[in-house]
Amino acid sequence: MFGKNAMSSRRRSRTAAFLAACALSVLLVASLPAASGGHARAAEQGPPPGSGITGTGVTAVPETVTVLMPDGSVRTMYMDDYLKGVVPAEVSASWPYDSLCAQAVAARCYAATADRHPAQGADVCTTTHCQVWKEARDPRTDLAVDSTHKVAALYGGQVISAFFFGHCDGHTRNSEDVWGSYLPYCRSVSCPCGNTTLWGHGVGMCQEGARTLAQAGWDYRDILKHYYTGTEVRSTEPAALNWYFAEGTTHAGFVTYFCIGNPSESPAQVNVRYIVDGGGNRDVSYAVQPHSRLTVDAASDIGAGKDFSCEVLSTNGVPVVTERPVYFNYKGSLTGGHDTLGSAYLRPTWYFAEGTTRQGFDTYLCIGNPSDTEAQVIVTYFIEGGGTADAEHRVGPRTRRTVNVAADIGAGKDFSCRVHCPGGVGLVVERPMYFKYGTWTGGHDTLGSLSARPAWYFAEGSTRPGFHTYLCISNPTEQAAELRVSYLVAGTGDVEASYTVEPLSRKTILASDDIGGGRDFSVRVNSTNGVGVIAERPMYFLYGGALDGGSDTMGTSFPRPSWYFAEGTSRPGFTTYLCVSNPTEKGAQLKITYLRGDGAVTEQGAFVEPLSRTTVSPADVLGRAPDSAHDFAVKVESTNGVGVVAERPMYFDFRGWTGGHVSMGY
Ligand SMILES: [Zn+2]
Ligand SMILES: [Zn+2]
Repeated sequence: MFGKNAMSSRRRSRTAAFLAACALSVLLVASLPAASGGHARAAEQGPPPGSGITGTGVTAVPETVTVLMPDGSVRTMYMDDYLKGVVPAEVSASWPYDSLCAQAVAARCYAATADRHPAQGADVCTTTHCQVWKEARDPRTDLAVDSTHKVAALYGGQVISAFFFGHCDGHTRNSEDVWGSYLPYCRSVSCPCGNTTLWGHGVGMCQEGARTLAQAGWDYRDILKHYYTGTEVRSTEPAALNWYFAEGTTHAGFVTYFCIGNPSESPAQVNVRYIVDGGGNRDVSYAVQPHSRLTVDAASDIGAGKDFSCEVLSTNGVPVVTERPVYFNYKGSLTGGHDTLGSAYLRPTWYFAEGTTRQGFDTYLCIGNPSDTEAQVIVTYFIEGGGTADAEHRVGPRTRRTVNVAADIGAGKDFSCRVHCPGGVGLVVERPMYFKYGTWTGGHDTLGSLSARPAWYFAEGSTRPGFHTYLCISNPTEQAAELRVSYLVAGTGDVEASYTVEPLSRKTILASDDIGGGRDFSVRVNSTNGVGVIAERPMYFLYGGALDGGSDTMGTSFPRPSWYFAEGTSRPGFTTYLCVSNPTEKGAQLKITYLRGDGAVTEQGAFVEPLSRTTVSPADVLGRAPDSAHDFAVKVESTNGVGVVAERPMYFDFRGWTGGHVSMGY
């Protein structure tokens, strides 16, 4: 139970130029105490001679890390999946939550900047030579890793080599006093760990000190900033400048909008590019005022009777958030609305957990190809009850393709699917569904997921009368997934259920079977054997006894301190909520900032108890009126750094079309 960090030059995969410039590669050692007995002896790798480094050159946490396994093979892992095996091996999973988060971030910084096994083509190994990694997982350390996704400590805009060690003797050491190498963020600082001897090299974070500070109520960001002098601790997720949508239509019976939120203090110049079926792009420019939102009616840009996909691009570097609500009367009888955030990415592979060709359901895949290359796409359907089926589709350059799933696999099947372009063309894929669910009619839509993951979180869910909530789980891998489904149920605490999802298959869970009726809940789906899955939550409802419909969203794999939504309104006829779930053991202090259509800003505070959820009603602070001042984009921020999950359900009567939709924020 100890780890050792080595200062690395930088990742192999990053710029070689910097590597050459950075002649000094300092190797350091950190030894950590065993959390539950048995100290391992830290290897003492001294630094090579040198006078210091200029920086790691790494400005963002990479998606993956290559790991030299004990058998000599090299495995590429998602960064956070790797860290879930590191944190419980480095410290005890029973330590205070913020000390686990601090350890997760330190280990992430280490791995993000490591290039320790270039000869084997690996960034790190699984031993004390780098950081200890084991297969064993713990739910608390898993959560600490998920909820600090992409968070790093940075000095001068670069991810630091985050050294850490077991404990100090009241103060940590200057790096140059130990290794002769000056690191500006490794200064001697006082430490409350209460020990009189040093265990380890003494440079960087004292792990027992981090534990003591977390016990005293410090949040992990302040702990890291204490031990890493002059650093900032923040997400390294890049701001999204491009938003891609596969679906959109101005045909009779459909109204398509784009809501564009600008949370910054500068105006955003935005280009909306419609890629119209049957040929022809149309570009329309808009300015989105600071801390405001803009609503674009697609029909006013391109006229009626068109199907299209769309790109919303910020052309002056000011990041925006974009959502697309659609209201409809599908085939003259199924009325409702759906909504999705755009995708900030174009990727060749997309996954969906939900889909059905049962009687009463029409399921489509909309595949957008904004590139100049034709995409040969293979859709692999995983059919509930067994079996897979492949279908091939061509999507021409700068076009979109709409696949009616029933034509591919026939009627009467529940399925999940993978949409894959073997040629590597970047796509955006959505799955709209229209339905008659009992007597409730409507439609919902979601973007696909970019990857299978071992953990999924949802903020919203209800088994009250008039609400049917499902979880659809897809397992696109060839190994069975063992799932633990943890419901945070208002008033009763945690309820857990276990499921197995067979390889290349899907499973449907009706929440009321697990927790009974009459409950609001949020939920976490965890694959206990690490097999990646996709989790989606369809809901069908009769809201307020009058608004029938359905909504759907993918879960998120990463609780985080801030969430943005572009859509929301408190106009008459619309009821908007913000559901915020706190899956951690520490209360979350929320600041909710409404960026209103008229440029005004309204703030609201809220608190989410640990292992709980709260539902906020924006109309309580904004009031109601039929004007743009009551349309809003919104930022939900946990000011004390606690990772939360936020969703925005809305229910509406839009010109007589009733329904509801939901969005997971960005
Ligand atoms: Zn190693
Ligand atoms: Zn200490």
